[in-house]
Amino acid sequence: MHAQVLKDYTDGTLHLTSVVKPTAGPGQVLVRVVASGLNPIDTKIRAGVAPYAMPVLPAILGTDLAGVVELVGEGVSRFKIGDEVYGLTGGVRGLPGTLAEYSAVDADLLALKPENLSMREAAALPLVFLTAWEGLVDRANVQRGQRVFVQGGAGGVGHVAVQIAIAHGAHVFATASAQKADIVKAYGATPIDYRSTTIEQIVSEYADGVGFDLAYDTVGGSSLDDALVSVKPYGHVVSCAAFGVHNLAAGSLRCVTLSGVFVLLPMLNGNGRAHHGEILEFATRLAEEGKLKPLVDEHVYSLEEAQNAHSLVESGQAVGKVVVNVGS
Ligand code: NAP
Repeated sequence: MHAQVLKDYTDGTLHLTSVVKPTAGPGQVLVRVVASGLNPIDTKIRAGVAPYAMPVLPAILGTDLAGVVELVGEGVSRFKIGDEVYGLTGGVRGLPGTLAEYSAVDADLLALKPENLSMREAAALPLVFLTAWEGLVDRANVQRGQRVFVQGGAGGVGHVAVQIAIAHGAHVFATASAQKADIVKAYGATPIDYRSTTIEQIVSEYADGVGFDLAYDTVGGSSLDDALVSVKPYGHVVSCAAFGVHNLAAGSLRCVTLSGVFVLLPMLNGNGRAHHGEILEFATRLAEEGKLKPLVDEHVYSLEEAQNAHSLVESGQAVGKVVVNVGS
């Protein structure tokens, strides 16, 4: 089969390579990959700047997939041959990636694909949905009627966080650049231009000067600092981008709960993978109820063109998730 293989972290070039087609081991299914969804972590791994997740080379890259079950390994009962599935399954240390015609994946990491989404749309969802859900639901227990502040509301994680919070009955306020305000609005949130508004203005205008119940920072840096002052006393701040150095005093003075999310952890340490499959079953339900729709960038890339897809993610110019068409 063909796969995009990284051989050297110093040049970051993907090589379309013929490799041995895998088979399904115990607990695995073999997926014929139709679409592979890209995330910032894919480009960080390729660039050699994510030591916590980088695979030993040579390695097939690619984190998310949507495709069709071709073989079912021993002990797997949730799936059968021919099922359409999706998941965050590989491309990190120890797990082969999804930029490949076939991938043997841990069945625990998969769920049945929503029937009303295309393969491209389904491949856009797993990593960002898991990241948003783990923060909003597992950690912060988002509730109906709460005021939720999402920073980076038109981004991959952000636009799904907006939809999950709204599906839970929250009132959602989300930062985005002015050009992307309509994206946030279309999902039912109030857009806020982060380039022209201070956090003090935001809290005053949208949170009664008291603060939000919950803030989800998907940006990091000064955005996380802002999140800490955006919540009310005893509020909850979640971040999937807390990889910097921060002064936590503003949060401490509000008795804030701060939760980090690192969605790759179950893939890297092998624990809690079945919960990822469960969370994606919630995603399937929300999508089929019409409450979840990923935004997919209009550029279409073949497996051969995966490097160009990486470049688009790195450019910051994508509008929505970048997805590579791998097969049919
Ligand atoms: P993305 O699709 O590139 O979205 C990033 C968004 O951030 C963009 O939509 C951009 O909005 C917005 N943004 C940039 N600067 C901003 C600012 N100062 N204030 C508010 N918004 C700002 O990326 P993603 O997939 O959502 O991921 C976001 C980050 O989280 C990445 O660093 C990624 O590596 C990390 N991440 C971590 C985990 C984890 O498990 N820890 C999981 C997923 C992602 P505009 O385009 O409107 O300017």
